[in-house]
Amino acid sequence: MTAFAHIVLATDGAARTGVLRTAHGDIATPAFMPVGTAGTVKAMTADAVRSTGADIVLGNTYHLMLRPGAERVASLGGLHRFMDWPGPILTDSGGFQVMSLAKLRKLDPDGVTFQSHLDGSTHRLTPARSIEIQHLLDATITMALDECTSFPATEEQAGVSMQLSMHWAEQSRAAFRPRDGYGLFGIVQGSVYPGLRAASARALTAIGFDGYAVGGLAIGEGQATTFAVLDATVPQLPTDAPRYLMGVGTPDDLIGAVQRGIDMFDCVIPTRAGRTARAYTSRGVFNLRNARFADDAAPLDAGCACPACIRHSRAYLHHLFKAEEMLGPMLLTWHNVQYYQDLMRSLRAAIADHRLQAFASAARAGWASEEPS
Ligand SMILES: [Zn+2]
Repeated sequence: MTAFAHIVLATDGAARTGVLRTAHGDIATPAFMPVGTAGTVKAMTADAVRSTGADIVLGNTYHLMLRPGAERVASLGGLHRFMDWPGPILTDSGGFQVMSLAKLRKLDPDGVTFQSHLDGSTHRLTPARSIEIQHLLDATITMALDECTSFPATEEQAGVSMQLSMHWAEQSRAAFRPRDGYGLFGIVQGSVYPGLRAASARALTAIGFDGYAVGGLAIGEGQATTFAVLDATVPQLPTDAPRYLMGVGTPDDLIGAVQRGIDMFDCVIPTRAGRTARAYTSRGVFNLRNARFADDAAPLDAGCACPACIRHSRAYLHHLFKAEEMLGPMLLTWHNVQYYQDLMRSLRAAIADHRLQAFASAARAGWASEEPS
């Protein structure tokens, strides 16, 4: 069995661009994965998500195990068929959302027992059960169960938590059933402590995974600390495997992390912002509720080819949000996902042409040109 072929086509400093070949198709890297929490990227059809250029979407194990249930999704042909996304899907392990959403959760050395936030029913997640659920969903990329160390944590707390995640990583690896074109990623933990991060990266490398994620970041530590952790972690990871920074981030975060060697990202920012009238554009972040857009006939972002920008004015988008029309969140989500995919495409081209630094400077200058709204 071979998991994935990961081909690095070009590098620029620590950044790299390439392709990850999976059972469900190729992923051009660096890649941004729109978050399809409960089997849908909120407010978008699967066709719309595809049209933005996204190669892969993310599904959430916690949500899908509770509703509609992993066994039901399996009996209906798997998550790809269920949500009309034949391309690659990455599922998280469920651990992060158990800790952030579930009621009455209790952690022990073998797993976590929790009550559903939906109906109060009791569930248990162990490394083996998390891997089994992700197998039932037919995830292209399965994530090991880990404990996302809360922030802030003392070095001692972070060390104990990281060791538990490494123990669970071993159990996750043992439970995973290898199939051609499918893979399992381990997750580096260790909070903000470089020594713990390096030790975690070495422990995961010794177990051996098909890709390596950096978890436990973008939870309040701030961008400078996120980048410092990446500087301490990425050099410890194998160069031939994909590297995934979980839950990050803003366009500026993505550029900085790509410059530090990250290949994959997911984040709710573009979709969540779209539902709350915030637009990410080449000229900065706009709040479309702002009265200054009421008579603005210009397109949202002149360089963008999404329907919100091609067919409508800023004034119309402003009107939709003021009138609380459903189309407002739909159009702005589409735009934000398009903007993120366009950014990744530009990053890939800039790395291939060895002009990443110049691209990053130009992008940041563009964001400053019209902000704040
Ligand atoms: Zn657009």
